[in-house]
Amino acid sequence: MKSNVEIYDTTLRDGSQGEGINFSVTDKLRIAEKLDQFGVHYIEGGWPGSNPKDLEFFKQAARRKWRHARVAAFSMTRRKDMRVEKDPLMRQVLEAETPVVTIVGKTWLLHVREVLRAKPDENLAMIADTVRFLADHGRTVIYDAEHSFDGYAEESDYALATWQAAERAGAACVVLCDTNGGRLPTEIARVTALAKSKLTCPIGIHTHDDCGFGVANAIAGIEAGASQVQGTVNGYGERTGNCNLISVIPTIELKLGLRGVPSRSLPKLKELSEFVDEIANVRHDPRRPWVGTTAFAHKGGMHVHAIERVARSYEHINPEAVGNHRRVLVSDMSGRTNILLKAEELGFKLSPEAPETRTITARVKERESQGYEYEAAEASLALLIRGVLDHNPELLFTVDAYHISMRRDARESVCEATVKVRVGDKTAHTVAEGDGPVNALDGALRRALVNFFPRLKTVQLTDYKVRILDGVAGTAAKTRVLIASTNGKSEWGTVGVSENIIEASLQALVDSMEYALLRK
Ligand SMILES: [Zn+2]
Repeated sequence: MKSNVEIYDTTLRDGSQGEGINFSVTDKLRIAEKLDQFGVHYIEGGWPGSNPKDLEFFKQAARRKWRHARVAAFSMTRRKDMRVEKDPLMRQVLEAETPVVTIVGKTWLLHVREVLRAKPDENLAMIADTVRFLADHGRTVIYDAEHSFDGYAEESDYALATWQAAERAGAACVVLCDTNGGRLPTEIARVTALAKSKLTCPIGIHTHDDCGFGVANAIAGIEAGASQVQGTVNGYGERTGNCNLISVIPTIELKLGLRGVPSRSLPKLKELSEFVDEIANVRHDPRRPWVGTTAFAHKGGMHVHAIERVARSYEHINPEAVGNHRRVLVSDMSGRTNILLKAEELGFKLSPEAPETRTITARVKERESQGYEYEAAEASLALLIRGVLDHNPELLFTVDAYHISMRRDARESVCEATVKVRVGDKTAHTVAEGDGPVNALDGALRRALVNFFPRLKTVQLTDYKVRILDGVAGTAAKTRVLIASTNGKSEWGTVGVSENIIEASLQALVDSMEYALLRK
């Protein structure tokens, strides 16, 4: 089936210009393979003339088999006052041995005159010579018209002449670029439609997010007739970033009714987004549209109630379509429905009318007013629900006493914790040292419990967060501690609240161990 809109990924070139983004050759190859599997049409690997890393990427890429995507090398128009075949940039881009070459050239007279210091006609010749030279060498040439919209706004005839020069010289696609990211969707649509009417070759759109319109501008371009869209995964890129393909791809399919990537790929969208963040060592943004963890999270009680009846009522698409899923958050805003859904998620069966449901809801609300928060502490919530359903079940263990001390010598400070734990009629008394008081307490508690419950050996603390909650005037501020634990197979969160940080931490630690023992 023919694609309606070609997806051109420039994560490895424009995306790697982003602050804090640094890909090794291996990183680039892994991302390229992922993009190929996902089904994008073009992967721009870099600029062969710019650094040895990009050269190495192309060397490796030339040896691989690409199933879906065509690899593109990026370069610029030939230098002024130099014959195209003599320009070392041309040699480098040909040596990259890619089927596609993307050439950037000037549209805006301001740049031609002030930056390039060339005559307008010379720039036209530079565009034509370069495109023709590469097309004659068997390359598919994509022409990126830098500052298309700024250039068109100031001197429309000249801008058009540059695009036509590229087309006449054999460009397979003329891509209109909002290089500075300052244009509005209406302008993008108007100029793209005009280019479409004046050129016969396909038009592409390349936008940046400086005004927060990166995606909106790309969509405006597509609606006005562009059949190629350039962008990066997660919107990586210089300044505020490029057009985010992770938003563009599902919009093409689910909102415009056009075809971009193969439809089997769409449910892997979230995975692609997370994969690239992982490689770039960037924390996945929970609020990222379509694929963030909060993208389909519901909190308001009324919403949750409606969602349960008709998912469509408060969701713009089915979250599974892009590999995401619905989440119901438990909070003081929520009604009973949230508790029921959450209880079901945790494996408890509850009916809305049961008195226990009312008790649980009331208890959650009361705890929340004390500063507890269960959104990231589902294990503590499960224990609370269990406590109500089993009518205060017998504790698996109790911490009878603990003591923490700290000493510091010239070189380092060490914390030591002792814990006395009781299980049935047996007790264990253990000591552990740690970098800090919580670390020491965790060590001592674990050491004591492992005597009774060897399976706790695999449990580990993976995250520890502290939030100071504002105290009401005249009272001490409370501390909320959230911890995440894992047994290597799954993760869970627990919460503790107290005016004393150690006490709050102990609550969360105890919940974590208890939950580890109860889960199957
Ligand atoms: Zn760009």
